[in-house]
Amino acid sequence: MKLYRNLLLAVLFVLPLSLQSQHTEPVDLEMVNKIKNEAINNSNIRDMAFYLTDVIGPRLSGSTGLQNAYEWTSEQMKEMGLENVEIAPWGEFGRGWDNEKFYIAMTEPYYQHLIGMPQAWSRGTDGFIETEPVLVEINNEEDIENYRGKLEGKVVVTPVTSEPELQEDSYVHRYDSEDLEELKMLPRVSGPSYGRGPSRDNTEALRQRALRQKVNNFFEEEGVAAVLASGGTFGTVRAHGRGYSMDSEPGLARITLTFEHYGRIVRLLEEGKDVSLELEVENRFHEEDTKGYNVIGEIPGTDRRLRDEVVMIGAHLDSWHGGGGNDNGAGVVLMMEVMRILKELEIEPRRTIRVALWGAEEQGLHGSRNYVAEYFYDLSNGEKKDDFDNLSAYFNVDNGSGLIRGIWLMGNDEARPIFEQLLAPFEDMDAGTVTLRRTGGTDHLAFSRAGLPGFNMLQDRLDYWRGYHSNMDTFERMQLGNLMQGAAVVTSLVYHVAQRDEKIPRVDFDH
Ligand SMILES: [Zn+2]
Repeated sequence: MKLYRNLLLAVLFVLPLSLQSQHTEPVDLEMVNKIKNEAINNSNIRDMAFYLTDVIGPRLSGSTGLQNAYEWTSEQMKEMGLENVEIAPWGEFGRGWDNEKFYIAMTEPYYQHLIGMPQAWSRGTDGFIETEPVLVEINNEEDIENYRGKLEGKVVVTPVTSEPELQEDSYVHRYDSEDLEELKMLPRVSGPSYGRGPSRDNTEALRQRALRQKVNNFFEEEGVAAVLASGGTFGTVRAHGRGYSMDSEPGLARITLTFEHYGRIVRLLEEGKDVSLELEVENRFHEEDTKGYNVIGEIPGTDRRLRDEVVMIGAHLDSWHGGGGNDNGAGVVLMMEVMRILKELEIEPRRTIRVALWGAEEQGLHGSRNYVAEYFYDLSNGEKKDDFDNLSAYFNVDNGSGLIRGIWLMGNDEARPIFEQLLAPFEDMDAGTVTLRRTGGTDHLAFSRAGLPGFNMLQDRLDYWRGYHSNMDTFERMQLGNLMQGAAVVTSLVYHVAQRDEKIPRVDFDH
């Protein structure tokens, strides 16, 4: 009995204490329910996905397609009732480029159409041409002389250096429960040293770059008609791009062919067979407007004390020139849907909720980095901007259209209990995983590098890599049902983060 009483006392004293030390995050389950219902039963995802990928099409930085996407998304934002909508310049991008005609086929030893795509910011051909490909192998400067006087009007191909591997596993990747459990743990560091290891010698890389430059100049001098390269397999052509800055001269006509079609030409030439090609590429450069833009819209905050603070969501609007479905039409459509749901439910958030559709992510996160530098923190000179303290958090989607399985917290330990509780009502939608781990590759980095809480959503990759940056990254790649789930999850997160008393805590950052 006595033992029991002591135990009881211990429980009475210890339990409340341990509960007190645990953070309790307010979660509005009635609102969660409304959000899920609107996202699943009244979704606008399909219409937006169709318009963005089929009516507007690919959205290369500086292209007419991206210009059309700026206009359409900003109109959509106005129609759904967002305020302060603008197509806001982030700075100088460079040369605009549109491909207006493209054709290539092999005509000798037999007729075979070739699957390919012109490289972005390369020149076109001089009209329709019939010519021969020449196999050119230049490993050092001396090799250049072997080809002098032999390349005028020809198409250059180079030996095959990599080939597609046999794909034995499934293309589709979904996280299973074991993967998710592992993600909840930090990676274990093994080995004797936590250091960075020896710095790599980049002399060879510099030598290769200098050689490439010399070879390019040589091709220009010789009057080469076009250069072929390989990328992509099974009918999928991987996009490549050339220099787009106004200081660089637009380079030779360049075409990427699928590995299979490129490989055939190279093998035939290596065996001494006669090969002929016919091709025509028309590309248009435009230089009237060399700036890059982001599209911004918001729902102003209503709480007098908190409305200057902002919760941001974003995704990049630009894509490569062959596609732009999963990368990142999916993120754009999802974030637009989040704003639509918030407006549809007539939510009047305490903090301002702002959406940003970034430009020129594919060329180095230009849109988001410049935006962060303008409003929050300029990494180039260490200058803190007026709104630095006003940002609560930024949420990004850019890993395709797979289910959202949780959130990457980028090492932000203090935010963990908050997001664990905010995601708890989404366990039944498979979205409850909170990982402290970091992920990279996209616009949240512009925030996290500046010491701001910038998070990317954790997503099933599905077949993302198969169509990645290719001509096959189309509407068909987008899993619309999964995007509806994603919109529900992000809407709820952004709503709760806008309503809570405090901003999302930041990890210490040494500015
Ligand atoms: Zn992307």
